[in-house]
Amino acid sequence: MKSYQELADKWIKGNGEEYLDINPADKDHVLAKIKLYTKDNVKEAINRAVAKFEEWAKTPAPKRGSILLKAGELMEQEAQEFALLMTLEEGKTLKDSIFEVMRSYNLLKFYGALAFKISGKTLPSADPNTRIFTLKEPLGVVALITPWNFPLSILVWKLAPALTAGNTVLLKPATKTPLLVAKLVEVLSKAGLPEGVVNLVVGKGSEVGDTIVTDDSVAAVSFTGSTEVGQRIYRLVGSKKRMTRIQLELGGKNALYIDKSADLTLAAELAVRGAFGLTGQSCTATSRLIVHKDIYSQFKQRLLERVKKWRVGLGTEDVDMGPVVDEFQFKKDLEYIEYGKNAGAKLIYGGNTISRKGYFLEPTIFEGVTSEIRLFKEEIFGPILSVTEAKDLDEAIRLVNAVDYGHTAGIVSTDIKAINEFLARVEAGVIKVNKPTVGLELQAPFGGFKNSGATTWKEMGEEALEFYLKEKTVYEGW
Ligand code: NAD
Repeated sequence: MKSYQELADKWIKGNGEEYLDINPADKDHVLAKIKLYTKDNVKEAINRAVAKFEEWAKTPAPKRGSILLKAGELMEQEAQEFALLMTLEEGKTLKDSIFEVMRSYNLLKFYGALAFKISGKTLPSADPNTRIFTLKEPLGVVALITPWNFPLSILVWKLAPALTAGNTVLLKPATKTPLLVAKLVEVLSKAGLPEGVVNLVVGKGSEVGDTIVTDDSVAAVSFTGSTEVGQRIYRLVGSKKRMTRIQLELGGKNALYIDKSADLTLAAELAVRGAFGLTGQSCTATSRLIVHKDIYSQFKQRLLERVKKWRVGLGTEDVDMGPVVDEFQFKKDLEYIEYGKNAGAKLIYGGNTISRKGYFLEPTIFEGVTSEIRLFKEEIFGPILSVTEAKDLDEAIRLVNAVDYGHTAGIVSTDIKAINEFLARVEAGVIKVNKPTVGLELQAPFGGFKNSGATTWKEMGEEALEFYLKEKTVYEGW
């Protein structure tokens, strides 16, 4: 296997400042030194994507799909190496990394296969000598901007449909996880993807982001990340001379409601897995628990029993939760813990750092969190769970909805009436019943509501292809 530095030098070729790619579990472990891209480097990458578009768009869709199927196979063969790199670069446990790699190669295969059925439709005409049909075509150069928390799978669930559809791509992953993306680009190249179809740019969003989204050669932007950055991109894209398609998948503040009819052992399991799995750094993480007052004290006991068994440590060992991704997020989490203690909430579990060489935190739980305080309203993106009591189902649903976000929500209940009322009234793009809020399947479309991403385009599933295709309507007479 090549060294990580060799991998970086081969695929990441910026002329800008140097960035140290550090293992969050061990601050002294530098995986590679990365040369970041400048604005000029970004412009060059856009030009390469423009130059290659016609050729790639004209490549028959089944041929494009075959390359993705091959890339999926190659990634599967290298799954262990991808997973180890993911754990070292981002911090999630090896078990979670393997799962993400599996998801990623399955996504490559899923969208590779869909290339064989990209199709328009035929419609009846009022005129007997006319045929009406539609043609699906790629958009052009699309920019994909992605976060670090699912450094491979989010990127692949945008990239695979974009390529299947015949677009060329500007790929801008989070600066924190560039090596993994370099490895993906390597696999695509080995699978036969022509040079210039995918163009990697690794740079700080605050420096190169505006150059990407405001360029008139960029026909579409698909962004996953924070609501703050998403809203900025939305405004910038809206003011461009060239109308640009945009897709936004943003932050969350997901609630799990524990109904009075719930199986409390199951509820505690789902709460802990949803809140602390992936170190709470998931857009679908359970960040708030809303608990029916009638079962509050029994549930609290089960919750504390379960969280005591939650093992924190090096992702490469047999643990449930690895470190927080970096110093910035670590400090942010600690600030929220201090804030919670001073804002009237009661710390009932955790709250401390764990003395190791990396950014390790205990799973942390606050109770008595009211809907007015920041712990309840703001996305933290760390292993911190807020618990709020509700007097009945109606109040619980109001509390679930009482935030600006609408990504995911869950209910634990055995009462079919309560479940159906929850499904009808909760404003969230994904709703889980007796399941953890975390975890999505690739064949099912998803997209957040409210400030979690209020655009109409869905990601994953067959529907995801639509974002990357335009439809031409033809009236053919004779
Ligand atoms: P972020 O918004 O800081 O960065 C996301 C990406 O945008 C990165 O590639 C970053 O470099 C880039 N970026 C930053 N500033 C930019 C700018 N001005 N212009 C263009 N690009 C810019 O988010 P993050 O910290 O990487 O990820 C965590 C966030 O992502 C959380 O809010 C989380 O909820 C969200 N997220 C959402 C989903 C979803 O499907 N809705 C999935 C995963 C993560």
